[in-house]
Amino acid sequence: MSAHAPTTSWSTQHLAEFVVAISGAPDESTALERAIESAVEALDAEVGAVVREGAVAASIGWPRFDVPELDLVALAAAGGGDVAVPGAGACRAVVVPLDDDRDGAVVLARMGEPLDPFELNLVRGMARTLALTLRMHGVVEAERGLRLRSQQQARENALLLARLQERQRLLERLALIQGSISNREPLDDTLKAIVTTAADLLGDVTAAVFRRDPEEPRVLRGPDGETCIVGSGAIGRAAGEGRLVVVEDGDGRAKAAMAAPVHEQGEIVGALVVRSLEPARTYTRAEQGMLSTLAEHASLALTDARTVGTMLHQALHDSLTGLPNRALFLDRLNHALERGGAAGRVGVLFCDLDRFKTVNDSLGHAAGDELLVTVASRLNGCLRAGDTAARLGGDEFAVLLEDVRSEREAVAVAQRVIEALHPPFEIQGREVFVSASVGIVVGGGRGEELLRNADVAMYRAKADGKGRHALFEPSMRAEVLERIELEADLQRAVARNELVVHYQPVVSLADGNLVAFEALVRWRHPTRGLLPPLSFVPLAEETDLIVDIGRWVLEQACVQTQRWGTSVSVNLSGKQLQQSDLVEVVARALARSGLAPERLWLEITETVLMHDTEATIERLRALKALGLRLAVDDFGTGYSSLRYLRRFPIDLLKMAKPFVDGLNASREGTALAKTILELGHSLGLRTVAEGIEGAAELAQLRRLGCELGQGFLFAEPLSADDASALLRAGGPAVAA
Ligand code: C2E
Ligand code: MG
Ligand code: MG
Repeated sequence: MSAHAPTTSWSTQHLAEFVVAISGAPDESTALERAIESAVEALDAEVGAVVREGAVAASIGWPRFDVPELDLVALAAAGGGDVAVPGAGACRAVVVPLDDDRDGAVVLARMGEPLDPFELNLVRGMARTLALTLRMHGVVEAERGLRLRSQQQARENALLLARLQERQRLLERLALIQGSISNREPLDDTLKAIVTTAADLLGDVTAAVFRRDPEEPRVLRGPDGETCIVGSGAIGRAAGEGRLVVVEDGDGRAKAAMAAPVHEQGEIVGALVVRSLEPARTYTRAEQGMLSTLAEHASLALTDARTVGTMLHQALHDSLTGLPNRALFLDRLNHALERGGAAGRVGVLFCDLDRFKTVNDSLGHAAGDELLVTVASRLNGCLRAGDTAARLGGDEFAVLLEDVRSEREAVAVAQRVIEALHPPFEIQGREVFVSASVGIVVGGGRGEELLRNADVAMYRAKADGKGRHALFEPSMRAEVLERIELEADLQRAVARNELVVHYQPVVSLADGNLVAFEALVRWRHPTRGLLPPLSFVPLAEETDLIVDIGRWVLEQACVQTQRWGTSVSVNLSGKQLQQSDLVEVVARALARSGLAPERLWLEITETVLMHDTEATIERLRALKALGLRLAVDDFGTGYSSLRYLRRFPIDLLKMAKPFVDGLNASREGTALAKTILELGHSLGLRTVAEGIEGAAELAQLRRLGCELGQGFLFAEPLSADDASALLRAGGPAVAA
């Protein structure tokens, strides 16, 4: 207890010592201990304590385990009082609050003199300094805590981040793989991406896909000619057992391996494997999951490639013939044009079968399909390597000729195609004849346009008589346009009653008596005038409009001739013969008009009969059963007519005009006509000679015993009114 002079310099010096003592304290509690020690010493006090938050934070003067804590806390709260000092009894204490937020106070007790104002000031100064220091410690502490916490958090975050990044990386790679699968990138590229991803993410030395050998299903083939056997090793077992297989501590070259099965449309087709050379390599659950996920993606790619492959094939090929379809044909055509550059010239053939619909309608769709398949293979047989045959639809085929040097070359191929279709087709045990009309175009430009031009040329080939080819010329386009217009007009012609029936007398050659009229249709076209049947009947036959036209003509003719009391000969199109309701249609026309059935003659052209079918024969028999007569029109113009003639229930032969014309032209011509007439005779048929224009022909025909005839010599086809007038006049006047 040293005496002191209470002066400012004294207190300043003690305060400086105090500051030095506490500022170096590493932490709060050391600072508190040093502070109270320093204060007790400076003020020569017996005891001292710092109370904070209802507890003694530091003390001096009391034995360590005998600090009057409760008294001190109460004293601090009261702001002063007595406190027990060891060995001295109760002693007056000074309480100076600490300016902190934890109810702190410094308590000092000194025997003898109470503290003077200077000493009290010093204690206050000490208390302020202590409060500051404590606050600073608090900040530092908090900061340290924060730092510790954030370091901890950072470590956790880093782990989390690494895991997330890894996951992110996996997800990104998977997204890439999924992208390449859905973008239909080449399968090999996708599998390669999966393999590299596996190696990257798992950090193993090798990753590979092993696939089953389609020839030897027990063998799995990997890259670089490596093979495995199903059932053995990680790869073989994964493929054999259909599950993920992990092999650690392996004794082979690879120390560890992990393989997952790869499927294609639900069937195991191989395995994805990763292998490590690290001796202690183990695979975590996450890594196993990763490999399985990648293997599933490989499965997806394979399955997708397969289905996409078949889908693509289906989308680009005709399912019946297996030939490329229109889309693929146009694609190849455009590629060929691009490859050829500015000078690119290709040839395009547009082939349309001439009688396909007849075959299809009469023999049935199965036969039609069979025919198309055979046509396709004959077509392929005509081509050079590098040419493409395609089926555009129905009975339309196209051929792409790459690198044609001249039109002659393309024409030669077209001829080969036409000839290839000549031999009869054996369909369902029958011989079927078809021909093709072929349009040819050679040039460059746009593929679609070339194909359209070839189509236009094909129309011309058809119009020129079918079974032939035509080379495209720009003028043809106008013709086709006209045809299309005509077709539209014809559609309306029936409804607008623009059609009329003319009647040409059929006479008995012996006496010139009128026996019948042949009904011949005409079209009173609003702008083109009266059109003959040849300018619209073929079109009507192609579009099936002939069915309606033919029925209308039949009904008109029956009503008209019933009034006249004559027979009538009505032309029947092959198309009408294919209609299953033909017999009803004819029966109704007879019933409505009241015409006696034997007065109705139905003419069928020889070519229609040539392509006979059971259905045709059945229908002809049913017609015959109505009591009417059947005639073969244009007889002699077909080729195999005689072979077929006996099969049909025929009553009349109409000898075609060329034979009549041939009568006086040559001896052979006369012989031909004679043969036909004799044939008719021997089959018990009545014969009509067509197109008699001259008296000399008439005389010959009479001599050869031809019974009936028609021709300009007697009368041209007449309007109904003119025909009525002719009848009133007693029939055509013919020179005997
Ligand atoms: P087709 O049945 O052989 O009819 C005879 C054709 O010869 C008629 O031509 C007729 O006008 C013509 N003709 C008659 N006598 C002579 C002659 O002395 N000299 C010449 N040069 N020609 C003569 P049209 O009326 O132009 O009919 C042509 C063809 O159109 C017909 O040939 C027939 O196959 C078809 N046709 C006409 N009307 C119909 C019809 O209503 N339905 C069907 N399906 N075809 C019809
Ligand atoms: Mg006729
Ligand atoms: Mg005829």
